[in-house]
Amino acid sequence: MMWVTHVVFGLLLYIIAVHLGFLPYETSYFVIVGIASLIPDIDHPGSKISKLLRLKKISEKLTHRGFLHSAYPALLLFLGAYLLACYSGFSEKAITVGVLLVIGYVSHLVLDSLNPTGVKWIYPRAKVRGPIKTGSYGELAILFIVSYALSILFFSSVLRMLINKDTLLMALGISIIISAAMGGEVIFRRS
Ligand SMILES: [Zn+2]
Repeated sequence: MMWVTHVVFGLLLYIIAVHLGFLPYETSYFVIVGIASLIPDIDHPGSKISKLLRLKKISEKLTHRGFLHSAYPALLLFLGAYLLACYSGFSEKAITVGVLLVIGYVSHLVLDSLNPTGVKWIYPRAKVRGPIKTGSYGELAILFIVSYALSILFFSSVLRMLINKDTLLMALGISIIISAAMGGEVIFRRS
């Protein structure tokens, strides 16, 4: 799937959790989920995250859709955050960050499971795959629906909280960046 679809889907799951009252709303949490939703693609040298973090040499040595595209790293991420929480006297924030990382990571695996290459959830077993090819009209339909749902929930959160001017400007900035990225991605169809 395209990187933008992963980010938007991860953000949607986060904002649903906020609306259900499971997680607090914070602008920085969008960034954490967004980054976590891209981490599994470190195993692909051409992916957005590998290029951004200049990890091409490491990426080339990893098997694409291998261990990193399984449930184990998500568990490890949560364990890491849990240990951090232990050392910080079980601060709620540390546990929330762990949950956010898992949401982002798992959202990536869910989307890639819809793809013909699929995901081996319990690597190297439990392969799940679907018919939606990367950059296809099927993926664009998912991207459109997910973005639409995200926008509605996002702006209803913003209005509900009657937030201050700075947060509103930040929210608008994020929306503009996501829209621009989506536009660029649809035009260039990069993986
Ligand atoms: Zn992937």
